[in-house]
Amino acid sequence: MLSNEAIHQLITQLTLDEKIGMLHGDGIFQTKGVSRLNIPPLKMSDGPMGVRSEYVKHTWIARGWEDDFVTYFPSNTALAATWNPKLAYAFGKALGSEARSRGKDIILAPGVNLIRSPYCGRNFEYMSEDPFLTSTIGTEIIKGVQLNDVAACVKHFAANNQETHRMTVDAIVDERTLEELYYPAFYDAVTQGNAYSLMGAYNQLNGEYCCESDALLRAQLREKWGYKGVVVSDWGGVHSTVKAALSTMDIEMNVTSDFDHYFFANALKEAVEAGDVSMSVIDEKIHRILTLMNTLHMLDGTRKRGARNTAEHQLLTLQTAEESIVLLQNDHHFLPVDPDRFSSILVVGDNAIKTHANGGGSAIIKALYEHSPFTGISMLLGDRAKLTFVQGYSTEENASPSRQWELREEAIRAANCHELIIFIGGLNHDFDTEGKDRSTYTLPYAQDELIKALHTVNPNIISVNISGSAVDLSSLKAYSKALLHTWYNGMEGGRALAKVLFGQAVPSGKLPFTMAQSINDYASHSIGEFPGHESVHYLEGLMVGYRHFETNAIEALFPFGHGLSYTQFSYEGLDISLQEDVHVAFTLNNIGAVDGKEVSQVYIQHLSPRLPRPSKELKAYCKTELKANSTTRVDICIPRHAFMVYDMQSHQWEHHCGDFKIMIGSSVRDIRLEGVIHI
Ligand code: BGC
Repeated sequence: MLSNEAIHQLITQLTLDEKIGMLHGDGIFQTKGVSRLNIPPLKMSDGPMGVRSEYVKHTWIARGWEDDFVTYFPSNTALAATWNPKLAYAFGKALGSEARSRGKDIILAPGVNLIRSPYCGRNFEYMSEDPFLTSTIGTEIIKGVQLNDVAACVKHFAANNQETHRMTVDAIVDERTLEELYYPAFYDAVTQGNAYSLMGAYNQLNGEYCCESDALLRAQLREKWGYKGVVVSDWGGVHSTVKAALSTMDIEMNVTSDFDHYFFANALKEAVEAGDVSMSVIDEKIHRILTLMNTLHMLDGTRKRGARNTAEHQLLTLQTAEESIVLLQNDHHFLPVDPDRFSSILVVGDNAIKTHANGGGSAIIKALYEHSPFTGISMLLGDRAKLTFVQGYSTEENASPSRQWELREEAIRAANCHELIIFIGGLNHDFDTEGKDRSTYTLPYAQDELIKALHTVNPNIISVNISGSAVDLSSLKAYSKALLHTWYNGMEGGRALAKVLFGQAVPSGKLPFTMAQSINDYASHSIGEFPGHESVHYLEGLMVGYRHFETNAIEALFPFGHGLSYTQFSYEGLDISLQEDVHVAFTLNNIGAVDGKEVSQVYIQHLSPRLPRPSKELKAYCKTELKANSTTRVDICIPRHAFMVYDMQSHQWEHHCGDFKIMIGSSVRDIRLEGVIHI
């Protein structure tokens, strides 16, 4: 590696033109290098579910290569639903390796924006409505990615929580809400995850565009958090030259191919020559970029090699998908289904045969393969049952009512002559997508009517919802004996689902967001605004997701952290002790007949808060694997700082003393043990 001295030396040899070339896109996904000094361009690629396919350098035209197929990994929401940071680390490691093998230096992931409303089109690229869960999963992904001499680029900083007017909308968020909810995953990404790069968001935050915000980038990120990495703009997120340059933005990327006309191209050179931006500002940016390259061993020829489409990555994809599936409801232990029990099974619903890799916006993947749920089920069952598929509803935009009716009638006829129905519906990337938000909470394509009609002819229904966001599942809940929730779950998602359905895998996923009964139960809709147009006021403040449901005793359809298993767990013997940090210990018993995994969640409540606080805040969790009929002692540490609160008077995080209730739950609503500790 080069010494810091050598980097400074290198900077002195660069001309202004060469420096400027390193600070803006010179291709849709790359900057310019300086070949005479052996400085390569920086090559970037999306994104969160795998490495995006190759584009002709200056355009958005796909090259159509034969060798840019990749592993399609489960979405970030799926990873969050595993509540398993070890899987997140392994996923990051695999993603980074694939990026490396495709010659990328920066992978534009993970997305750690909070899920503020179920309507946000990009929720599937994010993780959770809870900052702690987001943070722990996001940080592990980053650590894993960067093992490969590839930089993670954590995005989109900050408060990018809607797609409607995303390029202009001004998010108005108070300081405490930012500090307690919207910043933590970014703070942890840069301080614990050591993310080598970070992407500024498109939107404005409190009156300034994020990609040129002095308050956000210089004051918060650099000065308060001490961030030394590279800041990249979202594609087209920069709106000025001097202001953006002074805000400490480093690299301007955009979607157009008039690269010389970017704000950080000719205009930046002119600003330097006119003295509006000093050379030292430019040199600081170059220093950060060269340091990133040096850390990735791009300058010394000792860089690691990657690998893609390995059997190991495919297996990891399967395991992650299995652990992410959430068993929402299971009346009379209807699941798992014995593969020999039913001689005829009808699979209904477009999502049974749909593949999702090729959708969603910039998260799009050219997957090596993708097993749909129907393929997964037929691979598992073989000829043990007669398996039939009917679509049930059309997803075509212009499908006429009579076409929908025909499909429904066909499904009802088939339901009559099969013993078991597996309905696989939900959303798809026409809804869960970059660039637009949903506008209704109801399941699309009249799925509610379909399930009701199926139920009248055959009540043996298992339903599976596929979506990256919460959606109204009340009909599926009412008319199914069992209900599973799964995600855009990668190339092995269909096989993982089949394994869970037929008992070859025991579900252990837990919801990373609240599934409400109605959209107005979310405070972002009932108290705040969603979506905003010129501006969006986050009037709900801290009352995002379960914080609102718990504090105001609102019944969710399925609460945050909920997820059943094929076994049962009991909790006993809580010990809480205060040393340097707070230590919580309890006995967890698997009292069922199969091996399983339980996610124990630790929530806190300040019993006499000086500032209003939600009645439950997730501060720790632990996923434990337990054999049938066995017991273990679980120890969880909650660091002291987890009890702090942000005070807007002092503009600081503070310890407020008092009694704290510590609650151990199997979900936010299903609290099994509790105690009080004085801090
Ligand atoms: C998205 C980013 C993405 C970039 C490059 C933008 O539209 O917001 O998340 O990384 O495009 O594809």
